[in-house]
Amino acid sequence: MKPKIKKINNYITLVSLGGVDSNFYLLGRRMIVDTTTGLHKKALDVASRQLDITEGDITTVILTHEHFDHLGGLELFRNAKVLASEQTAKVLESADEKKSYAMFFNGKISSRKTAACLKDKDTVRMGDTVIEIIHTPGHSEGSICLYIKKDKILISGDTIFADSIGRVDLLGGDEKEMIESLEKLENLEIEMILPGHGEIIEKEGTKHIKNILDNLKSI
Ligand SMILES: [Zn+2]
Repeated sequence: MKPKIKKINNYITLVSLGGVDSNFYLLGRRMIVDTTTGLHKKALDVASRQLDITEGDITTVILTHEHFDHLGGLELFRNAKVLASEQTAKVLESADEKKSYAMFFNGKISSRKTAACLKDKDTVRMGDTVIEIIHTPGHSEGSICLYIKKDKILISGDTIFADSIGRVDLLGGDEKEMIESLEKLENLEIEMILPGHGEIIEKEGTKHIKNILDNLKSI
């Protein structure tokens, strides 16, 4: 498996292994958002060589939600501090096989404490860049999106994809909450959307969200 690496701007790089693995985003040189399943080590090694980083360089990992395809790779970043929503932190600390769907991915979740729980409207700073946390339950209880207002960028986890939204029929999923979360997001000024799987949405992100909502409500 050959990883796809795409420079989004001067501080965000997308790494996509494809298959069931989540995308992950390198922010600066020290922070990543999501970690893949961690099961495809060779592809991750190729990616880190291309990016010229080692696992030890990463000091902060932000998780968009509690599913194994996003957090299984945490194992590789033993010294990094982990930031996640309260619900995701709970799944992680209790190594909850069910809510993480670890077995579905043939993986095993290990208990890990988070450095801090991220609440709605919290901010995480990376140099001059302010990342706002938006709690967006619907795909899962612990789902969050990361909003970078100055560049109108949304890192959307499994809430929004280029061609669909995250499924709402899994444990902790809820269609009504998904609609409420999307309504929260449609009020933001968004150009680019960086999802947890598949292609990115390059522009008119807010319009993309409005269209999804219109479709959902017309069903
Ligand atoms: Zn998910």
